[in-house]
Amino acid sequence: MKIDEKKVKSVITKSKLPDADYVINPYVGCQHGCIYCYADFMKRFTGHSGEKWGSFVDVKINAAETVKKFEGSNILIGSVTDPYQPLEKKYKITRKCLEKLLPFNPKIDILTKSDIILSDLDILKKFKNLRVGISIGILDDKFSKKLEPFAPSPKKRLEVLKKLKQEGINTYLFISPIFPRISDFKKLVDISKEYVDKILFENLNIRANNKKRIFEFLKQNKPGLVPFYEKIQKDNSYWDNFKSEILRYCERQDVDCEIYFNH
Ligand code: SF4
Repeated sequence: MKIDEKKVKSVITKSKLPDADYVINPYVGCQHGCIYCYADFMKRFTGHSGEKWGSFVDVKINAAETVKKFEGSNILIGSVTDPYQPLEKKYKITRKCLEKLLPFNPKIDILTKSDIILSDLDILKKFKNLRVGISIGILDDKFSKKLEPFAPSPKKRLEVLKKLKQEGINTYLFISPIFPRISDFKKLVDISKEYVDKILFENLNIRANNKKRIFEFLKQNKPGLVPFYEKIQKDNSYWDNFKSEILRYCERQDVDCEIYFNH
């Protein structure tokens, strides 16, 4: 793993994402190295073209110093990196940014797969308007290990959600990415609904940059699904029908949900 410390002009960036005016990504790259990650488009803009996603991280070493004021309304922390990847234990860049943001009372949304977030419970509790999302797309440990080799197990992530909820944090489960005919969204809803305020759903985004890795995974682990994935890649009607199925199920389970398909 190649780790570099880099200085940035500003760590807060304007965003076009549906629910975030601004984003903060304390690191470039991600140690979790998920094979489906489409954030690796960042390689082109950050001098990492040709490097393997998951093999490098740039630490935005002065990130917190650049947070001098914030006049926007909401910030998503972790749109193209995991803000609580293992390096956060050493560098605490995410924590330091939170400390600087606190006086401005912004609406904060943090998305992670990691239990390291629990070491920041004290500061998280100080925000009046904060929620934490934990992403899990697949419950099966065997598949998770292949798809998200260096992320905490799905079971551990569920425990994190539970702990956050017990500590009074507003939580959501981000069921992402949904791997058709592999992800069991109903089971995920059933086992998490007691300790989340909301469940968000995102489809598997097969893009030019992750397509090869996803199809390699399928060929090795679920070869029978390859023709089906090729079909749904071209035909969105699968996801439209799936959306209706999710909405019906969540309504029956009395679960507040939001769907982010093909955004
Ligand atoms: S944890 Fe998130 S940002 Fe990191 S590699 Fe996985 S999907 Fe990408």
